[in-house]
Amino acid sequence: MPERPDLEYVVPILAAELRGRTIQGVRVKKPVVLRVAVEGKLETLLQGKKIGAVARRAHFVRFALGDLDLVVSPMLAGRFALAPAGDKSPADLAVAFALDDGRELRYRDDVQMGKVYLIARGDDEKVPGLAHIGLDILDAKVFTREAFRALAAKRRDQVKVFLMDKTALDAMGNAYADEVLWEARLHPKTFVKSLEPAEVDRLHGAIVKVIGQATRTILARKPPLDEKLRDFLKVRGKHGEPCPRCGAKLRSAGVHGHDAEFCPECQPATRRSGIVDWKQSP
Ligand SMILES: [Zn+2]
Repeated sequence: MPERPDLEYVVPILAAELRGRTIQGVRVKKPVVLRVAVEGKLETLLQGKKIGAVARRAHFVRFALGDLDLVVSPMLAGRFALAPAGDKSPADLAVAFALDDGRELRYRDDVQMGKVYLIARGDDEKVPGLAHIGLDILDAKVFTREAFRALAAKRRDQVKVFLMDKTALDAMGNAYADEVLWEARLHPKTFVKSLEPAEVDRLHGAIVKVIGQATRTILARKPPLDEKLRDFLKVRGKHGEPCPRCGAKLRSAGVHGHDAEFCPECQPATRRSGIVDWKQSP
């Protein structure tokens, strides 16, 4: 999915381009992505709506439309594009919103795992995961070492699962959780409750460093809106390649339904990781 660094770049551009524009029509190519939680026909509901603020929360992008909110969760493969309305529609086009300046806001999703919700303004409970979002990891005032320690102290899950929990942290997905764990030299299956205080602090530092650097890199390189820039990642997508730190072959493992890519040398499995939690076993 587009992750936090991607959205830090994309959302301000959408906000600047779309604020004050009026929606004049909607084309739905892949109805499976739509979740309309208000009464009425989609076309009628959106017709003539003026776009206000465009903002990100975790992996959601919210477009304020007066008494309605359009909330997009791009998940794995969703992406946005702005194009002249007459341009050929790409095969992965899910929904297009015609604007009063002759362009369309396009939501593309070739695996259709993403969702486009239309809700009454602020009715966040209608969107799974939107109402309860965790600490903003890019806000240094909020995401302090102390706050992260307090959060980690409550966890009984594996560290990769913790990092990806958006009710705890805003926000990391699969790719950046792997990058952060490589930076912190922690095995993705390590149980959070078994981390030493110094390791919790190292993890905090790794989040700030990795997400901050990725965000600054993407902002500086200005990729096309619908392109995910990932060529600078160290371990994600590099299973079988040498670790950029020690040269060992990168591996992948399943962690609670997610795949994790890591270096078995820099991020060794310990008795604190794995399916069996030895500390808890009799
Ligand atoms: Zn390594």
